[in-house]
Amino acid sequence: MSNVRKPMVAGNWKMNGSLALLHTFISELKASPLLDTVLCVPYPYLAAASKASFKVGAQDCSQFEAGAHTGDIAVGMLQELGATHVIVGHSERRQDHNESNIAVALKVQAVLNAGLTPILCVGEPLKVRQAGNVNKFVFEQLQAVIEVCSKDFLEKCIIAYEPIWAIGTGKTASPEQAQEVHQFIRTEIVKWNQNAVSTRLLYGGSVNASNAHALFAKPDIDGGLIGGASLKIDDFIAICNAAK
Ligand code: PEP
Repeated sequence: MSNVRKPMVAGNWKMNGSLALLHTFISELKASPLLDTVLCVPYPYLAAASKASFKVGAQDCSQFEAGAHTGDIAVGMLQELGATHVIVGHSERRQDHNESNIAVALKVQAVLNAGLTPILCVGEPLKVRQAGNVNKFVFEQLQAVIEVCSKDFLEKCIIAYEPIWAIGTGKTASPEQAQEVHQFIRTEIVKWNQNAVSTRLLYGGSVNASNAHALFAKPDIDGGLIGGASLKIDDFIAICNAAK
């Protein structure tokens, strides 16, 4: 972990949890001074989560500000409920909802327009890794966003590298595999925008209380985006402590 960047941990509850669990998190995390922590909860829990000592994020948003888009949620609405961050381009959205690189880029722009912080997810499926094309794949995901948003976006966002084969599978990338891609991302984003040396790059994919420390010790890994383990208060606190 670099000393030019403040470490952070973001939790992604996905479509899990309950109001009761959220209240446990609010009271337990109040008692535990944490680093920069964002919990991305399902939409219905945002308002309750905004009373917490940690920051609150959403897991997706609409690319539009308002209009005839039944079932979609605008970033301005998320902001009214207290969200400061929005996960964009999670692989589960890209897969389950056919979100293209361009759709993801338009959502990143919508988040930036509202003054919130996008947590942009990138990462390759197993076949791409096996074919040796990880960097090309991740580069194209980033490039699509740069083509829609200006290069300034690189200093206003958080990027999460989440290899798809590691998400929810228990197969974590090794610290070396993760660092290799983080270093590649860092090199590319700094070529586009020098200030991106301060942009935080999070690793996501089966991070838990046992492997977090070794991952976060790598120089270009500035913390984690945590799925399953962010639903267990003790594990989440242990992961946050590993990032400190
Ligand atoms: C995620 O949902 O972004 C994630 C990384 O999940 P998990 O930690 O469960 O692999």
